[in-house]
Amino acid sequence: MINYEGAVFRPPSEARSLIIQATIGCSHNKCSFCSMYKEKQFRARDFSEIEKDLKIARTMYSHIKRIFLADGDALILSTEKLTRILLAIQTIFPECERVGIYATSKSVNIKTNQELDKLKSLGLGIIYLGLESGNDEILCRINKGESASDIVKAGKKAKKSNILVSVTAISGLGGQELKAEHALDTAKALSLMNPDYIGFLSLMVEPDTDMWDELSSGSFKLLTPKEIIEEMIIFLKNIDSPGTVFRSNHASNYFSLYGNLNEDVPSMLEELNEVMKDQDLLKQEFMRRL
Ligand code: SF4
Repeated sequence: MINYEGAVFRPPSEARSLIIQATIGCSHNKCSFCSMYKEKQFRARDFSEIEKDLKIARTMYSHIKRIFLADGDALILSTEKLTRILLAIQTIFPECERVGIYATSKSVNIKTNQELDKLKSLGLGIIYLGLESGNDEILCRINKGESASDIVKAGKKAKKSNILVSVTAISGLGGQELKAEHALDTAKALSLMNPDYIGFLSLMVEPDTDMWDELSSGSFKLLTPKEIIEEMIIFLKNIDSPGTVFRSNHASNYFSLYGNLNEDVPSMLEELNEVMKDQDLLKQEFMRRL
């Protein structure tokens, strides 16, 4: 059996990929809304452990099209180590068409363009980057440890190496206080980055997070489902990212929305205007999940 340590997460689009842990936990692990790796102390796994898992997986699966390297931000590993891992994947799974990985702006920006080119040539096909919000005040409040410009720079840098960039943002992250700022600045940052994919989740606050405490003390106020839709309308009216695949159809979202930017913006806005008129179209709270 493959040796998975603790809970393992992957983006929805990697549901059918082989997951291999290259790191354990997240090197940052401080975002106030995130509980994914709270129980894990960050460490890079030894190459021998990773290679062993790849070899075990080979005995289990006859054809692997995609591999996802977990945990939190496995791109933080050195280029040398990632090169070793990607070469092992090429040897053990020659049929693998794409390797994906979670990244932070730091893990991208510390690498040179040449290093990213090299990783791309060895099979790294997509990075998953969390913008969360394009507003620096919100990024500071959630303890993201990165500015919007850091994240935009990272996305553009990866794209320059022809690595696909999938970016996540979170509806409602600015709370009542910074709703408009969140929508406008997230649209601005994503327009500058022009990623291949944008995925919008809707904020769900879990008990073992700092944000839960802020919610309990009243210092953070969640948006209502209607306000989430209003926020998305502001976002869509301001996004300009031609060619980006837009998805807001995660289990956490109150309303499922998807399309291609910019051409599907008018039809998506129409759908949201319908929801504003008939809120029975919104998902019930008990049906949402992360
Ligand atoms: S949101 Fe991402 S960067 Fe922040 S703690 Fe969670 S895994 Fe780490």
